[in-house]
Amino acid sequence: MIPSPSSSIRRALLAGRTVLLALGAVLSAGSAASLSAQDAPLRLFVSVDMEGIGGVGTPAMTSSSGKDYATSRRLATDEVNAVVAAIFARDPDAEILVNDSHGDHQNLLHTELDPRVTYIQGSIKPLGMVQGLDGSFDGALFIGYHARAGDPDGFLAHTGTGSVKGLWLNDVEVGEGGMNAAFAGSHGVPVILATGDEAATRELDDLLGAETVTTKVAETPSSARLVHPDVVHERLRAGVDRALDRLAAGGFEPLDPGEPVRIRMRFDSTTHVEILQSIPGMTKVDGFTVAYTARDADEAYRLIRLMYRFVGV
Ligand SMILES: [Zn+2]
Repeated sequence: MIPSPSSSIRRALLAGRTVLLALGAVLSAGSAASLSAQDAPLRLFVSVDMEGIGGVGTPAMTSSSGKDYATSRRLATDEVNAVVAAIFARDPDAEILVNDSHGDHQNLLHTELDPRVTYIQGSIKPLGMVQGLDGSFDGALFIGYHARAGDPDGFLAHTGTGSVKGLWLNDVEVGEGGMNAAFAGSHGVPVILATGDEAATRELDDLLGAETVTTKVAETPSSARLVHPDVVHERLRAGVDRALDRLAAGGFEPLDPGEPVRIRMRFDSTTHVEILQSIPGMTKVDGFTVAYTARDADEAYRLIRLMYRFVGV
């Protein structure tokens, strides 16, 4: 059989260990997830970004000082509530941890979230968009995601911040979704649902083979073709059902990058690269690009977040 492009991308990202070992881990993790879905309450991790929320159609709406940002908070909260309601309809005892993952990580309207979820707010956290995610979860859901830096079909596509022009893990280019999925996969947790604009869901389908829900389509990189939130919510409910059916059947593969994890990161200025040379083990690939070999996905994630968020130049 000729491997599909997406499966060859996945194999490349798994290059930190042999394919056979990785497949073994994948198979055992998949069956563990299906067993736990039958025997114990589902434990699901939900990471929520904002650019990919349906109804968010301008850059200003994603900025806390921008026009209609308050509407974006409401739209994002409503999408989370639609997703978790669909989960609780299937498993009333489900345990759901929601991690606010956009900007200063203070976007969702806490008091209006479904009271059955636990909610992490605030951005000073080393694991950022995956803070709180560990091997105790059966699956992860990425809500409101956007495409990686440079995708011409993406709405507000970027990776981390505007100063990052590219990120590679084990020589596979990834965006925030891929980076977060690799962290989850290193703990044996598959991404079971990814939602966002069409370019984002295509990217994560290619990389992960996750179930996806497209909330809107970019008209240009900074404008979007929208549908009504009620329509988006209906799509989300259907997406959750597909994802939970597949999870129960053991049908997801965690994207485990293995150990070590090779990081390469390209910036829009040489200043970043010069400053990052101060980190022991960091190498300069060219004037805009650094590389580092992290011992595992946890170290890789913390360092990447440090490099793009906390090195402010
Ligand atoms: Zn983002």
